[in-house]
Amino acid sequence: MKKHISLAVKCPHCGKSLMDKEAPLHGKPSIRLNIQTQQSRGVIHLCSYYECFDYKTDVPLAQEEIVTFSCPHCNKILNSHEKCKICDAPMVSLLLQTGGRVSLCSRTGCSNHYVAFEDVATELQKFYEAYGG
Ligand SMILES: [Zn+2]
Ligand SMILES: [Zn+2]
Repeated sequence: MKKHISLAVKCPHCGKSLMDKEAPLHGKPSIRLNIQTQQSRGVIHLCSYYECFDYKTDVPLAQEEIVTFSCPHCNKILNSHEKCKICDAPMVSLLLQTGGRVSLCSRTGCSNHYVAFEDVATELQKFYEAYGG
């Protein structure tokens, strides 16, 4: 069975935690972000388990729509200039509390996401210490 890793992330702009203990998903704090679509804006809670794509939101999302994500603390947009290698939508970039970052595609239904480390040796070690890999 695959080991499930629950990620703790923070905003790359203001450094505040994006974890929401008040709205757990699968028993873990969810990742709370503000979102905006063509029609409406609201809040989304993403499951913090790596490779789990469950979410809760009050915004109706169309399949394959590109969503603009922003930080609930500083309101800065989290969609980056990096494009998704699968569908060409902007990637959304969040920082891991332990160092490194996690990127996910801003298009609904696209499953492209990955964890990346800039200082691989120390960040990866911290990651394994924190998540018991
Ligand atoms: Zn922020
Ligand atoms: Zn994509």
